[in-house]
Amino acid sequence: MATERNPHAGLPFSDDDATIAAALEDVCVPALMCSMVHMTGDPSWIRGEIRPRVAILNNYESGLTAEELAEIRSHAVPVIAQWRDAGCPEPQVPSPELVKELMDFMAAAPVNPAVVPMFADDLHFDGADSGAITWKDEIRADVRNAFHVVVIGCGESGLLTGIRLDQAGIPYTIIEKTDGPGGTWRDNRYPGARVDIGSHFYCYSFEPSDHWSEYFCRQPELRAYFERVMRKYRVDEKCRFNTEVTQATWNEATATWSVEVRTLDGRTDVIEANVVVSGTGALNAPRMPDIAGMEEFNGPSFHSARWPDGLDLAGKRVAQIGAGASGFQISPTIADEVAHLDIYQRTAQWMFPNMNYHREVPEGDVWAMRHLPFYARWFRFLMFYPASGLSIEGSRVDPTWHDPEGRSISQASFERRTIFENWITSHLEGRPDLVEKSMPHYPPSAKRMLQDNGSWLKCLMKPNVELIKTGIERVTADGVVTDDGEFRAADVIIYATGFRHNDYLFPMTIIGRDGINLREQFGDEPTAYLGISIPNFPNLFCLYGPGTNLAHGASLIFQSECQVNYVMSAIHELLSTGRRAMEPKLEVHDKYVEIYESEINQMVWAHPTVKHSHFKNKDGKIYTLSPWPIPDYWEWTRKVNADEYDFV
Ligand code: NAP
Repeated sequence: MATERNPHAGLPFSDDDATIAAALEDVCVPALMCSMVHMTGDPSWIRGEIRPRVAILNNYESGLTAEELAEIRSHAVPVIAQWRDAGCPEPQVPSPELVKELMDFMAAAPVNPAVVPMFADDLHFDGADSGAITWKDEIRADVRNAFHVVVIGCGESGLLTGIRLDQAGIPYTIIEKTDGPGGTWRDNRYPGARVDIGSHFYCYSFEPSDHWSEYFCRQPELRAYFERVMRKYRVDEKCRFNTEVTQATWNEATATWSVEVRTLDGRTDVIEANVVVSGTGALNAPRMPDIAGMEEFNGPSFHSARWPDGLDLAGKRVAQIGAGASGFQISPTIADEVAHLDIYQRTAQWMFPNMNYHREVPEGDVWAMRHLPFYARWFRFLMFYPASGLSIEGSRVDPTWHDPEGRSISQASFERRTIFENWITSHLEGRPDLVEKSMPHYPPSAKRMLQDNGSWLKCLMKPNVELIKTGIERVTADGVVTDDGEFRAADVIIYATGFRHNDYLFPMTIIGRDGINLREQFGDEPTAYLGISIPNFPNLFCLYGPGTNLAHGASLIFQSECQVNYVMSAIHELLSTGRRAMEPKLEVHDKYVEIYESEINQMVWAHPTVKHSHFKNKDGKIYTLSPWPIPDYWEWTRKVNADEYDFV
């Protein structure tokens, strides 16, 4: 029987030597060297003097010199040609020892053996999707068919849940309030919207990643990706679009949820579900500011996540209120089109210099990702490893560190700060006024780090752009008045003012056991065990729930793969034991929250110099972010521990 070729073994090709040589000019050489080991089975490719010296995020050459890069490329061409002539045979699966050696090589340091399994799980060396559900046949078909899961939202996590439920043979319905998949990548279609985690990592681990046109792709490409994945796995057949969940109520007698939905045209329905999975995301409900006179404005005004179709900004005076992650992408994109742009920025932002941020993936790199065995997987590793939050220590405030102005939290934070300060000052030469306004007064990473290839700072220097730090007193019919009484005319106002991050599952009403309302239980301090399951709310599982946003590593798609894995394990637990419902034991949840609060309060995000941050609630406490090392969370979410749950 013919066996399927490992999907990462590279598509066989017949391109000539010149094509190969040209392609190699564009590749990431450390990833190429790993690919050569797979191709040839010869580890000497990574055992020589030429090896990565640093693994810094978004540095694809890892410190190799131009001569070294050229030497590897020229050695590789004839070997690849030979492999081509042999018909591109499928490489052997590398031994665990070799995998570790390859990882050490790419990481430019010995990788802790304890975390190797997490990376190996993500890289799929045997070609198999490590998260695929393989237990379908363990559960009787009539048991599976009598079960129904409602998934709220068809963003990246809801779509993933659908794929896994399908593999498990479990009936499900996805309720999605918009007209298609993609979630935040559907809603946020403002000019300049793009991902700021490398695209080759910010995608499902089990889907090919050779197609991204930019290293940090733009929103339309990501949206199209989710549409393609949805159709490939036929998840669309289980979706009810233009429909939103208004309420879900737990029925003790039947151990089911009654999920009330409403379509765009106002029709309502109730769906019974054994399990509800919330994939609504945490950055889903726009937060409009409360500024006097907003409703009096005569021109178009809207939240950044509600960008009007066909809006023409040419020749307009635009006021952009807010300059966080969204505003930071909007301003440089529209600045040349508008007559004038006023950016109202309450708090300056730290940015991470990243010259690959707007870079297209060159043809040769695409070729290598498509054809060279495991090249794309090692490139993924290079995105993942330096950003993997292996240790949380870089984010922890060093209690012995002395910085009277509170602008750094440790020696490393101080050093990072210096690099970031230089980035800002070097781009704003001759404009001390802008340097003064753009220099944050809090430690790096205390708010979400932004990516910059210079475009933000160049935008500030443009003659038609003004950065305003004075507070806003009111909005009028035709402009904005700041606290100093100055009026600036505006034809359009963009509110890039962020989301209700702390209000999980807003605005739905969720009624759990004994009539308990989730919003009341959460109050301003939402908590869930592992950010996933909630006492008093049996069979309700959250993806990207309380305390799981990532500010220190990995990506939310990786995080979703962990969480969906856990949810599927919970469903397996129910189906395989015949128990109808489960919720985390109160003492397990409470202990978890106790440690969570103690940890998160020691982290840079809780720093008192940060006055405003969507990570914090109104009392300045954090219930949004994860304080856990990424490998720990990966380990905790591999399988449900039944001892931690009460069952019905
Ligand atoms: P955000 O980071 O919360 O930024 C909101 C901006 O609005 C900040 O500048 C904030 O000032 C300002 N603001 C809020 N209320 C205000 C008020 N009443 N008056 C004046 N200014 C006000 O929101 P966001 O930019 O939409 O980003 C939210 C999150 O979405 C990000 O952290 C990120 O997780 C995600 N995101 C990701 C990407 C990406 O991956 N490329 C892009 C966009 C968003 P303060 O700083 O003073 O609060």
